[in-house]
Amino acid sequence: MNPIIEVLNPANGDIVSTVPYSGGKEAAEAVDRAHEAFKDWSKKTAGERSSLLMKWHQLIEQSTEDLARLMTKEQGKPLKEAIGEITYANSFISWFAEEGKRIYGQTIPASHPDKRILVQKVPVGVIAAITPWNFPAAMITRKVAPALASGCTAVVKPAEQTPLTAIKLAELAEEAGIPKGVLQVITGDAAEIGDAWMKDTRVRKISFTGSTEVGKLLMRKAADTVKKISLELGGHAPFIVMEDADIQKAVHGLLASKYRNAGQTCVCTNRVYVHESIAAPFSAAFVKAVSNLKVGNGADEGTDIGPLIDSNAVEKVKKHLDDAIEKGGTLAYGGETLENSRGYFMNPAVITNATDDMLCMNEETFGPLAPIATFKTAEEVIGRANNTPYGLAAYVYTENLSQAFTITDQLEYGIVGLNDALPSVAQAPFGGMKQSGLGREGSQIGIEEYLEVKYISIGL
Ligand code: ADP
Repeated sequence: MNPIIEVLNPANGDIVSTVPYSGGKEAAEAVDRAHEAFKDWSKKTAGERSSLLMKWHQLIEQSTEDLARLMTKEQGKPLKEAIGEITYANSFISWFAEEGKRIYGQTIPASHPDKRILVQKVPVGVIAAITPWNFPAAMITRKVAPALASGCTAVVKPAEQTPLTAIKLAELAEEAGIPKGVLQVITGDAAEIGDAWMKDTRVRKISFTGSTEVGKLLMRKAADTVKKISLELGGHAPFIVMEDADIQKAVHGLLASKYRNAGQTCVCTNRVYVHESIAAPFSAAFVKAVSNLKVGNGADEGTDIGPLIDSNAVEKVKKHLDDAIEKGGTLAYGGETLENSRGYFMNPAVITNATDDMLCMNEETFGPLAPIATFKTAEEVIGRANNTPYGLAAYVYTENLSQAFTITDQLEYGIVGLNDALPSVAQAPFGGMKQSGLGREGSQIGIEEYLEVKYISIGL
């Protein structure tokens, strides 16, 4: 019998489906096909590739509800969030279908009257994408759409917890007429598949979203064949509420930024800093709002927070919670794991009197825990916010324009939400500074990551 991976529903432990457990051999064969498919795909006009991508977009749009239900089953997020993710994932396909038509080169004044300088942008070749479980659709389209639009072919390894949405997306791509071999999804042994792709000289680029640890490993391995690299790694987002913030707006923003996907996104708020003068009313309003959130199976109507992905995730949040309480934090709300349940459910937790020595103020919690600390001055909070190896997303709430820019200018983060908790859109550059990653996804910049520059020097 061929080995398989059982895909489990984190809401109840049921087996949703099984997928093949492939290894290095299958990974290398996928590159053979991708390399072969590149010959024709890269020669198509940008318009032809765009039409095929738009057909794929249309099929995904028509299947939104089915894809979302599948995603909720394998990942756990509430159905309304899953529908939101499919729409968001699909927006990368339409954006890059258009952007692919605008891969402009350059002509540059030459140094001699008998010469001309021509600069072209060409697809890098076969690209490998390795993606995490928290966004089973969007992390794939954010990489694959610009790759395909620019003429690259792609081999993709989704997370072992959530391969089903990825497989369905690839089936729809084939149904849309995207030729075989242009987009392939491989499931199985992560390390073996990763190693096969990293050592293969035909794979010219790796785009990875996941933990900082695995990102660093892939970066080291990619060095041997000098691949282009894009990395979207961990984050530790601060959420800063200044004394002149609109409290209701900030509470609403924090709720979305902290508890979306049960706190399992790399741009989720990890730590909250509220000016000491408004800390009491802010925390009271926040706890009240959190107490209205409904925890349950994502497939049930009205669920706001689904299960965490697995038992390790629950253990990590519990560890951060216990540590915070031990170090003097006050449990203002929640934090219980839900008994009599086969799923990985946890009530959203709020800690007040948080201090910078707590684990949750330094390590990625990736769960529904909001630690609230206070501060006195802008200078102090900027220093504390930047005091981390990460630099992905940060949030600032203030109604004072000059204060807003004083702070955003100094934050060492790739994404800053200024009075905005949900900054991710297809047309804006997503990515981190410091150890949160390399490169940007989405936007005009996102397609550059899949292009090489070719300079042709012409003598007349
Ligand atoms: P998380 O802790 O969120 O699961 P990981 O970085 O472990 O984050 O996983 C992100 C992706 O990286 C998944 O698709 C996973 O299978 C893959 N992965 C994990 N270990 C390796 C490895 N050694 N080589 C290549 N890919 C890996």
